[in-house]
Amino acid sequence: MNTDDTDREIIDSIERWTERELRPVARRFDHADEYPEEIVEQMKGLGLFGATIAPEYGGLGLSASTYARLVMTIASVWMAPVGIFNSHLIMAACVQRNGTEAQKRRWLPRFATGEIRGGIGLTEPNAGTDLQSIRTVARRDGDDYILDGTKTWITNGVYGSCFGVLVKTDPTAQPRHKGMSMFLCEKGQGFKAAKKIRKLGYKSIDSAELVFEGFRVSAENLIGGVEGRGFQHAVGGLELGRINVAARGAGIAAGALRDALRYAQQRETFGKPIAQHQAIQLKLADMATRVEAARLLIEQAARKYDTGERCDLESSMAKLFASEAGVENSLEAMRIFGGYSYSTDFDVERYYRDAPLMCIGEGTNEMQRIIIARQLIERNPV
Ligand SMILES: Cc1cc2nc3c(=O)[nH]c(=O)nc-3n(C[C@H](O)[C@H](O)[C@H](O)COP(=O)(O)OP(=O)(O)OC[C@H]3O[C@@H](n4cnc5c(N)ncnc54)[C@H](O)[C@@H]3O)c2cc1C
Repeated sequence: MNTDDTDREIIDSIERWTERELRPVARRFDHADEYPEEIVEQMKGLGLFGATIAPEYGGLGLSASTYARLVMTIASVWMAPVGIFNSHLIMAACVQRNGTEAQKRRWLPRFATGEIRGGIGLTEPNAGTDLQSIRTVARRDGDDYILDGTKTWITNGVYGSCFGVLVKTDPTAQPRHKGMSMFLCEKGQGFKAAKKIRKLGYKSIDSAELVFEGFRVSAENLIGGVEGRGFQHAVGGLELGRINVAARGAGIAAGALRDALRYAQQRETFGKPIAQHQAIQLKLADMATRVEAARLLIEQAARKYDTGERCDLESSMAKLFASEAGVENSLEAMRIFGGYSYSTDFDVERYYRDAPLMCIGEGTNEMQRIIIARQLIERNPV
């Protein structure tokens, strides 16, 4: 079987799993804001915690294109579970790209099975977009470092046990990024999740504040083994991260379209299905066009990423357009569902609550526009 066949098979099995296992429980878990343990166990079995980890370290080694399709499939039904394995895979990708061979052999196989799960800790109460303003510090002490500081909004913060944590090893360095490093930190004495953050959407998945108080971590856990590269490690994964967030946004947009298209053919007003009213048709047409445009932008960015071409412009465009498509389509689905959109008996209210996060994560859409414009100018000098 060639790679295309294998990838097709993986997508098919994810489609079947999404329909069989995820759709029936999504509404219940979301409304209860309950961590979906049973779903996590199933995702382990499907290999999702190793989806993009190389086969030599026990993962599936999926291409960005296949991974994006897989993410879109799941997010079209319920976006939140994607965060459980994706944030974990961002940490794994950071080790795979930047770690020493010993670090890869030590961590990646256990990340791939989901035996150790976690995420990435960049954001702090005072620093999100401006990452170089972080205040968490790591001081060298013999063969160890001692960490002090607070991270916030960290996905998988409560149920995960291991995180790639961005710190300052030299808080006085200029430029500031030269004093930044990244460590793999496993929870233990001096490192705990202090608070689960209550949210508008993206329920069931835990977003938490992580606190480090005199936390001792071995110098062996410094990713890449050299200080001063943490900022590059953090931003180096952004192209893939943006393709992924784009796929989540496109998934929500596709789910909103699917549900609205069905509802519009069932609901009648003035003696005919609302799908026969032109005002509703205009919405459906715009929604479908957004989904296809988002899909094509994502495919283009992922294809470039897979062939090793530069794709910062393309991944930013995909992220910007697809995440806004998620917001617009979920709002249009709300309008098409009328009063029932407000009912928790339907899924559209969840899409509407989940979609805005995609405009924030992996660089806000304001920042994407700035990146796109800068790239345009750089690539088209006069
Ligand atoms: C549910 C959820 C999960 C998250 N998961 C994680 C996680 O797992 N790990 C992690 O590290 N972080 C995580 N985050 C944090 C997320 O990455 C940040 O919220 C995001 O980077 C934005 O940072 P901020 O919230 O501090 O906003 P700010 O940086 O304060 O920005 C506020 C506003 O100002 C705009 N702005 C800022 N600077 C500029 C500029 N130079 N030019 C123009 N506009 C600008 C922004 O676009 C935004 O509109 C998560 C956030 C949420 C809500």
